[in-house]
Amino acid sequence: MHDDWGTDMEAIEDARRDADLEQAAMEREGNRLAALRARGICTHSSGVAYRDPPVYPEQDGLLPRQSRCTEGTAGCTRVFNSDEEWVAAQEAL
Ligand SMILES: [Zn+2]
Repeated sequence: MHDDWGTDMEAIEDARRDADLEQAAMEREGNRLAALRARGICTHSSGVAYRDPPVYPEQDGLLPRQSRCTEGTAGCTRVFNSDEEWVAAQEAL
């Protein structure tokens, strides 16, 4: 007998487990980043992108495609030359 009901339930259980694992991984990553911030290490979690004319003072002096880190109160103010560079810096944390 072909048991479609059982197969469907299995698929739903698998999806639920995958979602749980994903949630756990996200929490671990969040904890890791929070620990870095607690140690005073910038995780470049927020920033401003180039805009002409600038809206925020932090946008002053940026060139097209550039963005500047403004994380927290003591953001590193590092200028990234592209989104790719920003993502690479985050992945290197
Ligand atoms: Zn930063």
